Amino acid sequence: MKKKILVTGGAGFLGSHLCERLLDDGHEVFCLDNFFTGQKQNIVHLLSNPYFELIRHDITTPFYIEADEIYNLACPASPVHYQFNAIKTIKTSVMGSVHMLGLAKRIKAKILQASTSEVYGDPKVHPQTEEYWGNVNPIGPRACYDEGKRCAETLFMNYHDQNKVRIKILRIFNTYGPRMHPNDGRVVSNFVVQALKNENITIYGHGNQTRSFCYVDDFIDGMIGFMNTDDSILGPVNIGNPKEFTILDLAKKIIELTKSRSKIIFKPLPEDDPMQRQPDIGKIKDLTGWQPETPLEEGLKKTIKYFNDTLI
Ligand code: NAD
Ligand code: UDP
Repeated sequence: MKKKILVTGGAGFLGSHLCERLLDDGHEVFCLDNFFTGQKQNIVHLLSNPYFELIRHDITTPFYIEADEIYNLACPASPVHYQFNAIKTIKTSVMGSVHMLGLAKRIKAKILQASTSEVYGDPKVHPQTEEYWGNVNPIGPRACYDEGKRCAETLFMNYHDQNKVRIKILRIFNTYGPRMHPNDGRVVSNFVVQALKNENITIYGHGNQTRSFCYVDDFIDGMIGFMNTDDSILGPVNIGNPKEFTILDLAKKIIELTKSRSKIIFKPLPEDDPMQRQPDIGKIKDLTGWQPETPLEEGLKKTIKYFNDTLI
């Protein structure tokens, strides 16, 4: 069935891949973005499609449209960008969620929240299951993002319980791929850009902290699969690739794949930087059969090709 689907943050890294896939699946897509971290370049190839509509709007102010589904992705995701204007980041997660949930309630749309592994903070439980409540510093530099996203989850649950809004909460672990912003500040794009320019690779701390990296195409399959589960399935549900790497391993792998002359240098570890992160994906696997397919090396090669083609 052809659906009308609103994607907030649709010009960003994940949002642009989602818009593209939803159009390919035959749906009509409204892409809403304030272009804080999103780029026209990510969606320019979709503009000629008559079933694609681009709307410049900021979700901290109300918005009205008729749609069957809403994917709420609007929010800067890189620590550098979400800390640039911390108050705005909280407003985007909290007021933005209120506006999108109010819209979903009014038009009876199903709504998915792009939550994050950051709700687990610097986790004391490893790997992270959805039952774990997390270890977040409420007044630290990451709090505007972590606590904003935690409050958004609360709002989603409350709108479901009080107003019967059909909700889905997805906790996204580190995802990477083409269309990350070259100055995004996240680790994969930073290292790939540095390696391609033969500049120093900047490891924060000793590089023994871990992350688990999911390739964007796998992620999009999983997110749409979760949106399409029965209305009784609310989440929160983790999504990510459980294969865990140290940041030092990642740097070495990227140097090898790019055949770069870059040297690794060590910089101070940012405050509250989580030491380890690995999703338990048992729940989404049981619910949808989804699991990531793309090995890190294959995903990195595609990402390197993208930056090679667009940067240099
Ligand atoms: P991104 O920064 O590329 O995309 C976010 C988009 O939201 C951008 O296009 C930006 O311009 C837009 N935006 C920001 N504030 C807005 C506002 N107030 N109104 C309207 N648009 C606004 O980041 P991404 O990696 O594509 O992340 C998308 C979503 O997924 C975010 O909500 C993020 O928190 C979540 N997420 C991403 C990851 C990841 O690894 N990529 C991990 C966890 C959660
Ligand atoms: N990181 C790094 N060098 C960089 C960018 C990030 O060593 O140039 C580290 C960062 O300190 C963190 C990990 O890589 O430990 C992942 O950082 P990212 O910002 O990508 O995501 P998050 O910390 O939100 O998982």
